[in-house]
Amino acid sequence: MADLEQFRMLIGGKAVDAISGKTFESQNPYTGKPWAVVPDGGPEDVDAAVAAARAALEGEWGEMTGFARAALLRRLGDLVTENAERLARLEVQDSGKLYREMIGQLNGLGAWYHYYAGLADKLEGRQIPSPNPNYLVYTRREPVGVVAAITPWNSPLLLMTWKLAPALAAGCTFVIKPSEHSPASTLGFAELIEQAGFPPGVVNVVSGLSREVGAALAGHPGVDKVAFTGSTATGRAVAKAAAENINKVTLELGGKSPQIVFPDADLKAAANGLVAGVFAATGQTCMAGSRLIVHESVHDELVRLVAERAAQIKLGDPNDPETEMGPVANRPQYEKVLGYLQTAQSEGATVAYGGTADEGLGGYFVKPTVLTGVGPDSTVVKEEIFGPVLSAYTFTEEAGALKLANDTPYGLAAAVWTKDVHRAHRVAAKLRAGTVWINAYRVVAPSVPFGGFGASGLGRENGIEAVNEYTENKSVWVELTGGTRDPFTLG
Ligand code: NAD
Repeated sequence: MADLEQFRMLIGGKAVDAISGKTFESQNPYTGKPWAVVPDGGPEDVDAAVAAARAALEGEWGEMTGFARAALLRRLGDLVTENAERLARLEVQDSGKLYREMIGQLNGLGAWYHYYAGLADKLEGRQIPSPNPNYLVYTRREPVGVVAAITPWNSPLLLMTWKLAPALAAGCTFVIKPSEHSPASTLGFAELIEQAGFPPGVVNVVSGLSREVGAALAGHPGVDKVAFTGSTATGRAVAKAAAENINKVTLELGGKSPQIVFPDADLKAAANGLVAGVFAATGQTCMAGSRLIVHESVHDELVRLVAERAAQIKLGDPNDPETEMGPVANRPQYEKVLGYLQTAQSEGATVAYGGTADEGLGGYFVKPTVLTGVGPDSTVVKEEIFGPVLSAYTFTEEAGALKLANDTPYGLAAAVWTKDVHRAHRVAAKLRAGTVWINAYRVVAPSVPFGGFGASGLGRENGIEAVNEYTENKSVWVELTGGTRDPFTLG
């Protein structure tokens, strides 16, 4: 255990071990070996973190102006940029994601803190005309309170930031529970909180191996709002727990996003977008464009282009900047993806490329896979795989393409590939998805709302609106005359 990196939790401004003293090892999915030791927190640590967050809210932090919060957020953004290299390496070791992607992600992450710093001092209320001239009425936007954040193992710091930056801008305090599969980067990030100058308890991190830790946090009576990213099944449990406490909740859940390709599309650009959509990050993204709905006249040509590019994808060490696809992030996920590939073949799918594990590389490698001969009822078309698997099927008419695209309980993202500007906007308007890209895929920004329709979630992250998810609106009535009124009528 001596050569493993050690991490501690952050509670009430202090780097701490679990109260029980227990730890667990985090695995590097590329080597398949443990590389870090992290505290194995339990419900008692959640209690301590929530209490610290409450105390911070009622202390110095709660008295700070939006201007002061903005300054701290800007400093945190700068620190993230200064520490991008270390944080990117933590992400790579913990989740097997590519250094190539993570260094870009971490270099860009500071922009989220800067964007929300820009909003922290602009949380304005309104003065509302009253039908009774005896009253002045205005609204205040106040922090919702203690936020419980729960994140999955893909892109832990990005998905935490989508919650943390608007929460801090709004004046909330925060308890984050990262995934048991990739806790280290969030614990590493916690070291920056104190350096940025946040008062103790504003941000707290609890790690734990048991899924009970997330459940204890989501249902904690001391929490005021729950912000969750993860699977739809867990999201449902989180929403129920939040409902017990009548808490606000935002959910960013799974997806089965369609990419519709019309015959007039630039097929090379579409093939590139399909690769970006489903093979980047080994397909382990909520927004994976895993359903290719292609006009029958260009099906063969497009599948050939994607399969050709898939065959050239360089699998290997996620730390190597030349590597294009790393391993699947953990053993259960690896087994799940291979299970779907077997199911596809037993249901009659044809493998245009891939279809198996890549055992030569060690680790949990799955070949980038292109499946044809599937239909709207195939299991791989209906269920989220969360791996590098593209399922291609055809349409003949625009209305049919839309019907296929919207034939899913999910609604996170979608793409339209066409050069016809009329059709592009017409189809974008009819797609039931929180994000539609036209001739593009997998682009996000701090300023652009992101979230899902249907089973893909509740509420939006990013953009100006995201701050509203972390504020309460208070209406204040001021009697102006100093007189009295009939106490038995509604004013
Ligand atoms: P998961 O739902 O298994 O776990 C997510 C987090 O919830 C983990 O931290 C886990 O410990 C915690 N958790 C588990 N049980 C809990 C409970 N009962 N109460 C509270 N918390 C609990 O998801 P995962 O497998 O880690 O992540 C993959 C999923 O995340 C995919 O389905 C993917 O689509 C989704 N995802 C969505 C987005 C988005 O923005 N919409 C982004 C990334 C990932």
